[in-house]
Amino acid sequence: MIWNPNKECMSRDEMRQLQGKRLHKLVNYVYHNVPFYRNKMQAMDVSPEDIQSIDDIVKLPFTTKQDLRDNYPYGLQAAPPSEIVRVHASSGTTGNPTIVGYTRKDLAVWSEVMARALTAYGITRDDTFSVSYGYGLFTGGLGAHYGVENLGATVIPTSTGNTEKHIRLIRDLKISGIACTPSYALYLAETLDKMGLTKDDIGLRIGAFGAEPWTENMRKEIEERLGLRGFNLYGLSEIMGPGVSYECEEQNGSHINEDHFYPEIINPETLEQLPLGQQGELVFTTLTKEGMPLLRYRTKDLCSLIPGECACGRTSVRMGRIMGRSDDMLIIRGINVFPSQVESVILEMAEFEPQYMLVVDRVNNLDTLQVQVEVRKDFFSDDIGRMLALKKRLCDKLKSVLSISADVKLMEPNSIERSQGKTKRVIDKRNI
Ligand code: ADP
Ligand code: ZN
Repeated sequence: MIWNPNKECMSRDEMRQLQGKRLHKLVNYVYHNVPFYRNKMQAMDVSPEDIQSIDDIVKLPFTTKQDLRDNYPYGLQAAPPSEIVRVHASSGTTGNPTIVGYTRKDLAVWSEVMARALTAYGITRDDTFSVSYGYGLFTGGLGAHYGVENLGATVIPTSTGNTEKHIRLIRDLKISGIACTPSYALYLAETLDKMGLTKDDIGLRIGAFGAEPWTENMRKEIEERLGLRGFNLYGLSEIMGPGVSYECEEQNGSHINEDHFYPEIINPETLEQLPLGQQGELVFTTLTKEGMPLLRYRTKDLCSLIPGECACGRTSVRMGRIMGRSDDMLIIRGINVFPSQVESVILEMAEFEPQYMLVVDRVNNLDTLQVQVEVRKDFFSDDIGRMLALKKRLCDKLKSVLSISADVKLMEPNSIERSQGKTKRVIDKRNI
């Protein structure tokens, strides 16, 4: 099923025209309502009239998270305060939160793009759907919530916390779909175990997972443990919240709602646009937003755009999995390391739980990386020889994937702190 075939299956030509028209209107709007953008454009000698088609976007200035912080709280808001009906803030994973105001129309667009996503996952009006992203300033909870209502399924606003009660509700209310972070999905699986229940005692069918990077191996793990099919859901509060892009049944990249959010991939050093297919920093322009529209917002998320048609019938461009944020990228002895690489290796080995932590330090002017990872109960033993052999196997695999050697610390089952929201996987003591 496709929620809005008119938009999701538009011909490429029509889409580019629509984007061009919307960009033209947007640039006029911010030029006249946001001094920050007017100043930037004047400094670059660009006027709204220079922006006639979507290809003209390269003439426009970028926006960074720092710009949002410098203009805290409402400096980049374009709509008058009387038009703003809701405010959210980014989670502040990487510093002070940024504030985002939404108009009534922004909220309608958000519910629309979320309904597209849920429909692509296979959710219908007959489903009962639990939203287990945190409700509050974080966009996850309310964003997914109104999407489910717009679609017409039954929403159960469970949020996070009280997981045992949640599991009883999943069973008793026959909840078939859930939106949460991949970390919370694992936590749910563990709690299920603890309660002496199995995936067959609950009837979860579909999971919408996002808000943090996760790997293909993590998908397999969660699907196996919860007995559902897991789909990617991507978004960020500066642009809207969850629903910026979503996977379809083909699960080969996530379709971007590009009639509302125009994507580019740039080289983060030269800021030049990269051709389709190349990996770089993802940049979005909010084509229809009224509250806080952004031109060429640098997400710091690293991925590539996938060219070509998708077998599902949608024509929108897809983005590959997020490799990581440029903020998360660790430079260890000059080598780039992403937590997702470590996750992939760990999940390929049956001996480990998908629970790990990277600890980076500097000893005698040399960077060190320690990977702490939980050994599964069935594999954990007092036999030192066996544990040393396991440790060595992991060290060797990490070395071949990361190109640097890491120290491994095997941890007892359940010793790494669980997260119900976004998980922190890195402790960088070099910055402390
Ligand atoms: P913060 O930047 O404070 O974490 P947000 O709550 O807006 O604020 O989070 C948005 C970020 O979360 C994205 O920029 C991205 O890094 C990450 N994210 C969201 N969804 C996904 C996903 N499906 N896969 C990987 N990363 C994701
Ligand atoms: Zn598709």
